[in-house]
Amino acid sequence: MDIFFEKNLTLLIPNAKSQEELLQKNIAIIGAGGLGHNLLMQCSGLGVGVIDLWDFDVVSEGNLQRQLLYRYDDIGKSKALCAIREASRLNPHIKLKAKEEKIADNNIHQLQNYDLVFDCTDAFETKILLADFFYAVKRPYVFASAYNIYGQVFLYWPEGGHCLRCIQEFMPMPPRKSEHTGTLGLTATLTSTLQALAGVQFLTRNGLDEWKNILLYCDLMRVLTKKITITHRCSRCSKSEVL
Ligand SMILES: [Zn+2]
Repeated sequence: MDIFFEKNLTLLIPNAKSQEELLQKNIAIIGAGGLGHNLLMQCSGLGVGVIDLWDFDVVSEGNLQRQLLYRYDDIGKSKALCAIREASRLNPHIKLKAKEEKIADNNIHQLQNYDLVFDCTDAFETKILLADFFYAVKRPYVFASAYNIYGQVFLYWPEGGHCLRCIQEFMPMPPRKSEHTGTLGLTATLTSTLQALAGVQFLTRNGLDEWKNILLYCDLMRVLTKKITITHRCSRCSKSEVL
């Protein structure tokens, strides 16, 4: 186990104590698609101690080009189970669990029990549901969105000063011109790797200020990753005293 983790010791995870702290954390990843499958593998390699992966969908052929964990013989099988199978093969030193459920009003309360939750969904309605839930219960989570060649990452925590509704009013994702417009694996992998970075910085409290009032924006065509300072405050955040 020590050999598995020894190359994690970097400026981000500076010593064995910080690795041990990461091993004590529990997280939930919501969605096992383009974002979630990569995030799962990154967090498994980082050594987050308990990871629950929530996804109710099955693997389809159209997923394979960007959801690189899955294989042709996984088509029709549970994404959550297939992804957890692969993560378990990568790192047997952590606890991994597949939750084959759709997040909805009746089960969202379970997300309060994690140290951090990662929004890797692709449905706008679910993203708003998650955003409003975490805002209401004052719990942290990391939003990410990947579409076409564009990515966004935003870390919400109660002391951070902004919520997802601030972001959506300030800089919404580019509109989807067609249901047939795709998303590159490059976009999803880059975005979710940066989402994992936000998560580990939050969990280890190392570099957390880099995310305060920040939307991280990626544009692959312009070879651009940019930190944008959020200046807009939605109506509910503008009533908050946190700046
Ligand atoms: Zn807000």
